Amino acid sequence: MKSALATGKQRTTKEIEDQEIKRSPRDPGDEPQESSESLISKLLGRLSGLKAKLIIPYLILTLLTAMIGTFIVTRLVASSVRERFFNQLDAVSEIAADGIVRKEQDHLADLRLMAFTEGVPEAFLSEDGSRLQDILWPLALNNEVEVVSAVNLDGREIITLAQDPVSGRYGVYEGTDFSSYEIVSKILSSDVDQLGDKYAGLLNTRFGPYLYTSAPVKDETNELIGVLMVGTRLDTLLGLINEEAFAQILVILDADGNLLTSTFAHAEEEKEIFELTQSSIPNSGEAETKEINIGENSYQAKYSHLEVRKRPVGILGVALRSNYVVTAEGTSRNTFGVIFSLATLAVIIIGYLLSQSIAKPILKLRSVSKAVAEGDLNQRTGFKRSDEIGDLAAVFDLMTFRLRKRTAQAARLYAETLERNEELAKANARLQSTQQQLIQSEKLAATGQLTAGIVHDVKNPLAVIKGLAEELQEEVLLSTEATEQLKTIQDNANRANKIITDLLKFARQATPAMKRQNFCETIRTSSRLTDYLARKGKVEVVIETPDDPVMVTYDATQIEQVLVNLFQNAIQAMPDGGKLTVQLMREDKGIVLRVQDVGVGIPEENLRRIFDPFFTTKSEGEGTGLGLSVSYGIVAKHRGRINVKSQPGKGTVFIIKLPYDQPLPRGTGE
Ligand code: ADP
Repeated sequence: MKSALATGKQRTTKEIEDQEIKRSPRDPGDEPQESSESLISKLLGRLSGLKAKLIIPYLILTLLTAMIGTFIVTRLVASSVRERFFNQLDAVSEIAADGIVRKEQDHLADLRLMAFTEGVPEAFLSEDGSRLQDILWPLALNNEVEVVSAVNLDGREIITLAQDPVSGRYGVYEGTDFSSYEIVSKILSSDVDQLGDKYAGLLNTRFGPYLYTSAPVKDETNELIGVLMVGTRLDTLLGLINEEAFAQILVILDADGNLLTSTFAHAEEEKEIFELTQSSIPNSGEAETKEINIGENSYQAKYSHLEVRKRPVGILGVALRSNYVVTAEGTSRNTFGVIFSLATLAVIIIGYLLSQSIAKPILKLRSVSKAVAEGDLNQRTGFKRSDEIGDLAAVFDLMTFRLRKRTAQAARLYAETLERNEELAKANARLQSTQQQLIQSEKLAATGQLTAGIVHDVKNPLAVIKGLAEELQEEVLLSTEATEQLKTIQDNANRANKIITDLLKFARQATPAMKRQNFCETIRTSSRLTDYLARKGKVEVVIETPDDPVMVTYDATQIEQVLVNLFQNAIQAMPDGGKLTVQLMREDKGIVLRVQDVGVGIPEENLRRIFDPFFTTKSEGEGTGLGLSVSYGIVAKHRGRINVKSQPGKGTVFIIKLPYDQPLPRGTGE
């Protein structure tokens, strides 16, 4: 149960890692060919990135603000321009109306002056035109009165002095019936309204349209004796008003809507404006505004009732060119468009830089994290910032540093474990080899004890057989056959004795007589002893020893025995001759001796048995199988090792390792 849980947990971690690997964006260099699909997905990927998340809402907001701002400001400016325009139109209209009222007041002042001038009532009574001309002409001239008329009680003009608009001279006229004019008839019928006994109105005379003001002329008894009228040409009036009001167009219509005068120079245009204004006559006291287009120009015109002495006498129209309103709207829209575009651009650039300053370190942090995740623990963010991103980077660097430390620690521990394992393996191998030696030694000891007993018991009977056989041979009576048989008995007894002697050597395992001497010498002696055998077996013996003496503490006789045995085995393993190489080398703690032949080799299954007592592959009489086991014992007593490596068909090498020195035997006192 426990292990199942553990496996489940491991699998989950693996899955998470796999997911992480899948999730992590691919390296751009991975794709050698970019299809359009991958380009789109790349673009979408970019759009969903941090930069895009920072920039896009900001961009949209900025553009929206800019557009709404431009719209509102343009609207505001446009409406303020319009408002100013219409205010101006109102002002112009008022100035024009005031101008007319002022003129009318001038008329009243002139009338007062003239009516009360000495001689005027008398001249009226006598209807003396020339007298009136004499009195009124200087007054008219001085007060810039354009026309003055004296009318008798019948409503007929006694005299009219009218200034010629071109020459400026006054012409004298008389006899016209003025009784049909309201401003005359009202006075003659002694009508008095709330403003008094004076009247004003627009009259279209033979000299053109005039603004007239009329006043009664009375005698000393306050009896009406005539009517005095003062007038100003509407053209003059328009000129005066225009000087103050700066209107582009001024139009005056009579109460019936007939055009009396306008500031238009051309009859064509005048006709046109007249037709337009016809439809714009205000019904009540309200003023009316209308857009009119003449040629390429457009105007806004305001029509209002022209009131003189609180009575509507006609219609006054003023018009201002409105082209500039449209132009101003367009200009302001363009200007604000440019201003907002530039501001938007600046805001976008600042926003981009800001987003860069936020996104860049985060992206760097991401790439560093990826590198760390992939195992590169030497990565550092390298930021020095005093904000939250700086804190994050510092914490990240600290984390990587600690991870690096821990990883190094883990690696060290792992290496140490490996080293220990290796040491353990070596110790184990040593243990096994020691165990092997122990087994071998035990085998040797057991065999030795057994052999010693047998040898002891067999040796004496053999000596008896051998002695008797010798004695019997000396008997003269014996046949040749018997003598030969006795010889055979003696030979076999001798051979048996040799085997027995060998066995005894093996069994005794005499304590070596240690002496410090030159090992090269022992090699040479052993070689000499086997020289005959080598020559017979056509074996070339090559001895490689250091030039200087190699001093080792050992029993020369015993080691000689070992070497002779090895050389003999090697020569016997090369029945067709060959090369026997003997190499002596120094090592730190001792010497290494290699005895190498190119003979038949030892099959794998025999390798472990060759050091066993009595193991031999040689035919009967040739080998006892004791040579290697005795050699093993001798080397072991010298605290050395003997190993073998062999390749069947290629050759064998025996390697002997001996320490330079042996421990001093107990009780020697040395
Ligand atoms: P013996 O020589 O009397 O057989 P040894 O103990 O010396 O006894 O050798 C045991 C056996 O080891 C030999 O019979 C032989 O099979 C094998 N042997 C020893 N040395 C060699 C060698 N150099 N090449 C091949 N076989 C060898």
